Amino acid sequence: MQLLSDRILNMATSATLAMAAKARELRGEGKDIIGLSLGEPDFNTPDFIKEAAIQAINENYNSYTPVDGYGELKDAIITKFKRDNGLTYESSQIVVSTGAKQALFNIAGVMLNDGDEVILPCPYWVSYSDIVKLFGGVPVEVKTSIETDFKMTAEQLEAAITPKTKMMWFSSPCNPSGSVYSKEELQALVDVFKKYPDIYVVSDEIYEHINYGKGHTSIAEFEEMYNRTITVNGVSKAFAMTGWRIGYIGAPEKIARACNKLQGQATSGANCIAQRAVITACTESPEKVSYMIEEFKERRDLILGLLNDIEGFNCNVPDGAFYVFPDISYYFGKTLRGKTINNATDFSLYLLEEALVATVTGDAFGNPNCIRISYAASQEQIIEAIKRIKEAVS
Ligand code: PLP
Repeated sequence: MQLLSDRILNMATSATLAMAAKARELRGEGKDIIGLSLGEPDFNTPDFIKEAAIQAINENYNSYTPVDGYGELKDAIITKFKRDNGLTYESSQIVVSTGAKQALFNIAGVMLNDGDEVILPCPYWVSYSDIVKLFGGVPVEVKTSIETDFKMTAEQLEAAITPKTKMMWFSSPCNPSGSVYSKEELQALVDVFKKYPDIYVVSDEIYEHINYGKGHTSIAEFEEMYNRTITVNGVSKAFAMTGWRIGYIGAPEKIARACNKLQGQATSGANCIAQRAVITACTESPEKVSYMIEEFKERRDLILGLLNDIEGFNCNVPDGAFYVFPDISYYFGKTLRGKTINNATDFSLYLLEEALVATVTGDAFGNPNCIRISYAASQEQIIEAIKRIKEAVS
């Protein structure tokens, strides 16, 4: 009998983590690698949040927590949803998880049966496709391009719907393209969903606060969508808390209770100290972290200016998150320093080996013409990295 399950054998390794491991290996060989592959803010967690965690330790928060989160944290999340998104949730509709990633696992686990189709506008966050497949779902990729700012149109959505469509998953601001759906663009999608009342939407809003002025709209704000949207959010990105591992959902009660049941058989409640700290993060005004957003915006403008100066890099202007997603298909079929570039993976590996800059191939996000470059790095590192890239492709 085979040792490992088909489930795990059929799963792809996270491309972002694989690239980080390769970069580490080269660093181990003494190479000066600039890492622009990870989706992780390079800031420290703000002091006002750290202090809440220290207080929780001193107050002896050390026991198992309720599976779906402390009541006070769920109240703070309810306040946040009302304040930032105009969404009204009851406590029974909130589930706190070990990162937004676990929230997404829970959703797939409680909603998908074998063969259910999940529409994924491409490019999508690297884990969506494998999470969907793990639970028997069938990802239906909808290709978008730089011409539509990597956003799915209403026509594309309608064309992708079949009698087997169960859900659509998307992130806005989007990882990896940084694209933000406007209210009007969401309205156009909602007009299609109105015709298909059984289709659910997973709206991943983890980059909500990392928005450069376009404004954030939650699709659940549309009356027709509230009862069939699972809004996913968390503190990893905007609050520089990736390692604290807290994410959460606001969802129709039946779905939230099912996620609670699944999580109760998996990890149980999320970490007690992290939850206490997140009460503070969700209660305080997002203004308190605006210094990070301003810095990200400066870096976005810097990196776009530098990349637009390189032949063959075609960039959209990201309205949020901290990534650029240039179309580099210009290089396909070309030979650089004796190496032939056949696809985005070749190009990303070429940049790692020749420019000593770690990026991620667009294939991992369902777009084979692009690479993802994270600008969650200092301005000095960004300037040096893009200088090296320019030299390597000249
Ligand atoms: N959703 C998106 C779009 C992400 O980019 C990430 C992290 O990279 C996650 C979810 C997972 O976030 P968390 O750290 O809360 O698990």
